[in-house]
Amino acid sequence: MFLGLTVAQVASLKTDNQLSNLHHRFIHLQADPVSLSSDGGHQYFRYTVQLQGMLNNNANPTRVTPLHLGNPIEVYSRDNQFFSSEDFSATETVTGGQNRIEFHIFHDGCVKITDNKDLALAHGAEQIHYVYFTAALVRHDIRSMDIVMINKMGNGATVMNVPAGHTSTIDYTPFNPIGVDAKTSYIYPNGDVITNGKKTVNDVVNQNHKIKYKNTGKKTFVVHLEAFNFAALSVDFTYSGTRRFYCRPEVAAAFIGTLVDVGAFVDTPASTVAFDVVSTGSCVEDGTSFPSVKHNNGNAIDTLYQNGVAGLTNGQRLARDQTIVDGMHRYGAQEILRGPNNHYSAALTTATNGGALHKSHLHSGEITLNDCNRTLP
Ligand SMILES: [Zn+2]
Repeated sequence: MFLGLTVAQVASLKTDNQLSNLHHRFIHLQADPVSLSSDGGHQYFRYTVQLQGMLNNNANPTRVTPLHLGNPIEVYSRDNQFFSSEDFSATETVTGGQNRIEFHIFHDGCVKITDNKDLALAHGAEQIHYVYFTAALVRHDIRSMDIVMINKMGNGATVMNVPAGHTSTIDYTPFNPIGVDAKTSYIYPNGDVITNGKKTVNDVVNQNHKIKYKNTGKKTFVVHLEAFNFAALSVDFTYSGTRRFYCRPEVAAAFIGTLVDVGAFVDTPASTVAFDVVSTGSCVEDGTSFPSVKHNNGNAIDTLYQNGVAGLTNGQRLARDQTIVDGMHRYGAQEILRGPNNHYSAALTTATNGGALHKSHLHSGEITLNDCNRTLP
């Protein structure tokens, strides 16, 4: 018995051909918000069974609704027990109410999650809703991000070649002209991935560097962090030269808190130059993160230094980057890496020397959120 599905319904799911077979496909249960029903205090939930995956090289997760005998497949649950769509009564009384995961990001560095932290039991959790609260507890609904369940990947490790046996590839070369370093990912039946591409090691450019990410055999969640503006809090966030648009849910929360800090930052002396945060990304949709070995599962996010921004003094540029460091640190980043030696970024405090690799960008990761025992507003 799988989700109460009949054998024939599972067969319809398996043979559905709407998604690319180069990527993993996952069952997604799309909660029907208007069908929440209650019976003696127990809530029932109705879901439409969908498949989640990718359309060829499209970086956006896509969901399709397979049909069985011409209709979408519906299942019902109560207390995480699933019932067959054919046996369950659809005549329960409908009740309202929301059941969703919100990350409440507070101005002081605390983040309170409204649901269980492993997300595994969340009903209707197709998105995480990120909400920011000012010091006066004014609520700002910042972004709602799609959740994607992925194979949990280990840290990357350099390898010298691509062994035979991979069963599919992902081609990133169409994105090389915009600065994406990955060229090709080779995917093995056990879920391991080797990515070949351009990587600079000790200031030497290697056009065919190879990094292997091992499938740990576990699952984890990432969210789709898109570039966005949020005018009410002066947030302006963009990407440059990357397709690594996914990150751990905790990283997104810390990053949003930091973006709000940046929005409130004032240069000394004051300037009219916009303070835009430009990221070179976190991880791609399969949890790998070439050229980084530490961004697996979206564990960290990179930002470009402000030292290229025209119209500012070096002191102003450094103060801006220090704001990013301080923000990520305050929201729980345990590892913030800057450039070495006499590099511009070496003057940043509470960031550590990450070697020559970090001359081009600041790295913030290993996020441990602190809910500060906060009660929900
Ligand atoms: Zn990094």
